[in-house]
Amino acid sequence: MSNRRGLLIILSSPSGAGKSTLARRLMQWDEGLSFSVSATTRSPRPGEEHGREYFFLSEEDFKKQVAEGQMLEHAHVFGNFYGSPAGPVRETIESGNDVLFDVDWQGEAQIRNSDLGKHALSIFILPPSITELHRRLVGRGQDSEEVISKRMLKSWDEISHWHSYDYVLVNDDLDATETQLKTIITAERMRREQQPALQTHVNGLQSEFQEMS
Ligand code: ADP
Ligand code: 5GP
Repeated sequence: MSNRRGLLIILSSPSGAGKSTLARRLMQWDEGLSFSVSATTRSPRPGEEHGREYFFLSEEDFKKQVAEGQMLEHAHVFGNFYGSPAGPVRETIESGNDVLFDVDWQGEAQIRNSDLGKHALSIFILPPSITELHRRLVGRGQDSEEVISKRMLKSWDEISHWHSYDYVLVNDDLDATETQLKTIITAERMRREQQPALQTHVNGLQSEFQEMS
């Protein structure tokens, strides 16, 4: 067994608040951090690759995987199904590495209520304002006006779940938010339940103590 148990680090935000940008920065910071590649029934965007951004599945295949219990969590978001495959997550955290999730509030709630919930660390990213959120979605240049309107309409629904998260950050200055995220993760890795080898260490201290007395 590894000295450390990995964390399930969940980042959620309304679309455009900056979670993908922050996730990329965290992955550069710590190469041991792996990203949970979700499965989805939505079509790939230009530049997206099967197995890198998402596993792009037909609705039939997606539902089959859910029925077989292969998803740690799954949800219907913006008219498509999304889900996190459980197998790679279990293996990674068992080996002492953290897994980063970009999932919505439904995913956060399901992971928290799963058998891995005690290893979950959830962080909600808020935008500094709704005007800035819109500006970022337009500035990203990835979505049509229609898709942006749909995402803006959905943003309040996502924001309204902010209070279910362990930490909430306002992503105004990107560098400052990145530093806050790294600080939170560094501290959370020291949580007692993340260190399974502690019991053995304390047993050793006890033996040494008894030998001396
Ligand atoms: P999400 O993954 O939450 O949908 P992205 O990470 O794609 O959001 O960010 C949306 C856009 O906003 C991107 O163009 C990104 O470069 C920009 N962005 C992210 N964080 C900030 C920030 N703190 N200040 C200014 N622009 C930002
Ligand atoms: P997008 O289509 O823009 O990549 O993602 C749309 C939304 O789906 C985002 O809010 C993202 O967090 C969410 N999402 C992506 N993957 C998953 C997943 O596996 N599970 C859940 N519950 N939500 C996901």
